[in-house]
Amino acid sequence: MYEKSKGAEEKQRTAGELSTQYISKIKMPSSYTEVIDKLQTKFKQGVTKPLDYRTQQLKALYRLCKENEDVLVKAMRDDLNKPYFESVICEIEFVRNDIRGMLINLEKWAQQEYTSKHILLTFDSSYIQREPYGVVLIIGTWNYPIQMTLSPLVGAIAAGNAAVVKPSEISPATARVLEELLPLYLDKDCYKVINGGVVETTELLKEKFDYIFYTGCSSVGKIIRDAANEHLTPCTLELGGKSPLFLDNEVDIEVACRRILWGKFINSGQTCVAPDYILCTEERQEEFIQVAKTILKEFFGENPHNSGDLARIVNKKHFKRLHKLMASGSVAIGGVCVEEELYISPTVLINVKASDTVMQEEIFGPILPIVPIADVDEAIRFINDRDKPLCLYVFSNNKNVVKQFLNNTSSGSCCVNDTVVHLSVDSLPFGGVGGSGMGRYHGKFSFDTFSHKKAVLIRNFIPLLEKLGALRYPPYTDKNMEKLLVLMKKRSNFFPKISYYTLVFLLGIITAVVVRLTFVASGLTKYLPHPFQ
Ligand code: NAD
Repeated sequence: MYEKSKGAEEKQRTAGELSTQYISKIKMPSSYTEVIDKLQTKFKQGVTKPLDYRTQQLKALYRLCKENEDVLVKAMRDDLNKPYFESVICEIEFVRNDIRGMLINLEKWAQQEYTSKHILLTFDSSYIQREPYGVVLIIGTWNYPIQMTLSPLVGAIAAGNAAVVKPSEISPATARVLEELLPLYLDKDCYKVINGGVVETTELLKEKFDYIFYTGCSSVGKIIRDAANEHLTPCTLELGGKSPLFLDNEVDIEVACRRILWGKFINSGQTCVAPDYILCTEERQEEFIQVAKTILKEFFGENPHNSGDLARIVNKKHFKRLHKLMASGSVAIGGVCVEEELYISPTVLINVKASDTVMQEEIFGPILPIVPIADVDEAIRFINDRDKPLCLYVFSNNKNVVKQFLNNTSSGSCCVNDTVVHLSVDSLPFGGVGGSGMGRYHGKFSFDTFSHKKAVLIRNFIPLLEKLGALRYPPYTDKNMEKLLVLMKKRSNFFPKISYYTLVFLLGIITAVVVRLTFVASGLTKYLPHPFQ
């Protein structure tokens, strides 16, 4: 079904139109070199490194998110008609929580991490020192325009870097708000927002950055990597792809269905980890459709078009792309499209084949195809025949089935019996593998991503140990080589692990023995308490 909107006067200004208007107003500097040079100078002066400074900037970013919640919510409504609930929970509060976590752990994570070493270096120190890379470039995407730009920025600031943030031009209202707000809260000399589209980003990528963090589609990911290679710049690529969902026959269908539909239709399916398609048996497909009809009514009412809880498609280009995908399989639920409002109703397609158009690209919209399969083995083969997904979802109560998927497939993450919520566990790394990306972030992983791990070894000048170490110097002898080989050989548990309390106990005994021997040697035993004489 392809409905026209009732009145032209109701027509929303689409993000696509906003985008074109906005980009045409951006004045591109003849070169970004001057901007980056200034940031480099500040970084080299050490401005961004002290923990106090990082804490202060993180707190300022927190205030930005708190004091401007309304402005940010409005911008995301303009760009995507994002519901208030989703703007707060999935974007603004997500970033605030990220900052809280960083502030709680910053001192601990920034500390030196002592490491083990071989016997010859027993009295020396070896540790990992995390140091900021320098000036980093963060390129964000439009679907979660606050989370995808500010969450990496939290990691960059916490690790002590200066940064350039390049929001997506496809979400122009949010891009503009970020450009206006960031300089009001953060140190303007160390953090810059640069707006623009492909032309500006291409120009920006000619500059030498110390790290590039990119979120977006795989085809542009390759362009970013090529540009990074030019300067040997390390990069993280947070990409997308098709995230499959396996639905077992035994699982509670009502709970499973509710969790699947929620994960699929938040932000109208424009979520990188949204379940892209379902693999299940034909009987499960039928049951799923029956239950899904009831649950979608529960979520969005009789007519989802009137619901305030459904975002719109970001622009006409994506709307048209999605509309074409509906020709695959047959529409069991939804299928309503209103171009003027960029509205597509929550849609479920059944009996979809692997060769159908909808299975050839990441859907990134409110369309959920079901591909019937015979069993677990076929599902695993289906997944392994394609690019490694950003996320794999498995709905099953059978531990063996879950194990089969975990052991026989590869994906950035795997969430069992739910969708999307694994992103809220920031003790887990978030990122892709193979076609779905490289690198990871969230929580400590963000801090580590933006930190170079410098190896440090500090040696001593103890004469006795120098004698032992002198085995390495010429003139080389077989005897010295043999000794060195023994001393350097890796051994498991060479030093038995003992608890703190055992160590204190042993030290207590040693001290008592040493004290007694000293008294005995000095002939002062009579001064010792009776039991020790
Ligand atoms: P997009 O069009 O907003 O592009 C992303 C960024 O790349 C933008 O800042 C844009 O200016 C820049 N860009 C676009 N074309 C460019 C070019 N030719 N040269 C240089 N820069 C260019 O977003 P998109 O690519 O449509 O994003 C959607 C994709 O992002 C989906 O595949 C989705 O799965 C993925 N995604 C991944 C994550 C993740 O965390 N892994 C999160 C969100 C989205």
